[in-house]
Amino acid sequence: MSHHLNIAPLSSWIDLQDRPLVISGPCSAENEKQVMTTAREIAKIPQVKVFRSGLWKPRTRPHYFEGVGEEGLKWLQQVKAETGLMTAVEVASPQHVEICLQHEVDILWLGARTVVNPFSVQEITEVLKGLDIPVMIKNPVSPDLKLWMGAIERVNQAGVTRLIAIHRGFYSLGKSLFRNPPMWEIPVELKRIIPEIPIITDPSHICGNRNTLYHISQKAMDLEMDGLMIEAHYNPTRALTDVEQQISPAELEQLLDKLVIRKTAGDEAFQQKLNELRDEVDQLDSEIIELLSKRLDLVEEIGKIKQEKNITILQIKRWNEVFKERLRQGKEQGLNTGFLSKFLEILHNEAIRIQNEKLNR
Ligand code: PEP
Ligand code: MN
Repeated sequence: MSHHLNIAPLSSWIDLQDRPLVISGPCSAENEKQVMTTAREIAKIPQVKVFRSGLWKPRTRPHYFEGVGEEGLKWLQQVKAETGLMTAVEVASPQHVEICLQHEVDILWLGARTVVNPFSVQEITEVLKGLDIPVMIKNPVSPDLKLWMGAIERVNQAGVTRLIAIHRGFYSLGKSLFRNPPMWEIPVELKRIIPEIPIITDPSHICGNRNTLYHISQKAMDLEMDGLMIEAHYNPTRALTDVEQQISPAELEQLLDKLVIRKTAGDEAFQQKLNELRDEVDQLDSEIIELLSKRLDLVEEIGKIKQEKNITILQIKRWNEVFKERLRQGKEQGLNTGFLSKFLEILHNEAIRIQNEKLNR
């Protein structure tokens, strides 16, 4: 499967001056005063280029504030006219798209609950055809890269070239520090497969609280994400939605000022040193692969003689000894025990698989 994507570079349509794209605004538009006060404060922060706001907010359960809907669009028009910020709104249906266009919204985005459903994405795609409006696509709630890529491909096929992927974390069973654990390997893999797609991180929906926003924002920058979307509200503790995670525009400014934006490349001497070290890493990796292959050949050999003598594959006592001894050695060499035990487990599973294959042939 090839990816015939035609995606415009971010800098071709937003004036970033080599800085990360920052989008901010309230989770939800609540009333004119809240929108305008928040927007005026945000507009003073030079890094912020786009004002976000949710208008349609169906909630997990239906007893809460559900967004102001179409009414909020005139406030966003006012924000745009008064502050010069671009505006962005979440759309979940073809009607939302049409109403947003009538009110000159600059950027649309598909939310995490919409992207899980290809029926919805396809329906929205139909009305996007021929419109040249920028679209941002949040990752689906479930940790499923294909679903995310599918939405990006669908929207791109409709002719939308100004695309951004938003990384907002994923649903996970069990307790976590995060509302939606970031699972960084997923956006990193998206970047590997579709290098031309700009990706911004949404620390607000990853964290679900104010305390860890900075940490996640910095991490996004260190992983070369192209920007951030962070929820802000002029009176965050009174917000009608996502009250735990919204910050004031002043707090947003502090957070952004504290961020360290590292360079992605250094001078010639640095590049040379880096290349030398990388060559060494490459060499070691080949050796590791060679050694792994030799080790598994031996395992196969053992499997053969076990089969001849009709001996069981899994020998718990031997495995326990090996495991303990290797962890001891690893500790001596300064290896992290968690890492090494995961590695040993994978190796052991592979050994069992190989021996099993032999047995069942
Ligand atoms: C939002 O951005 O306010 C929102 C609803 O986010 P998500 O779709 O990521 O849950
Ligand atoms: Mn929100």
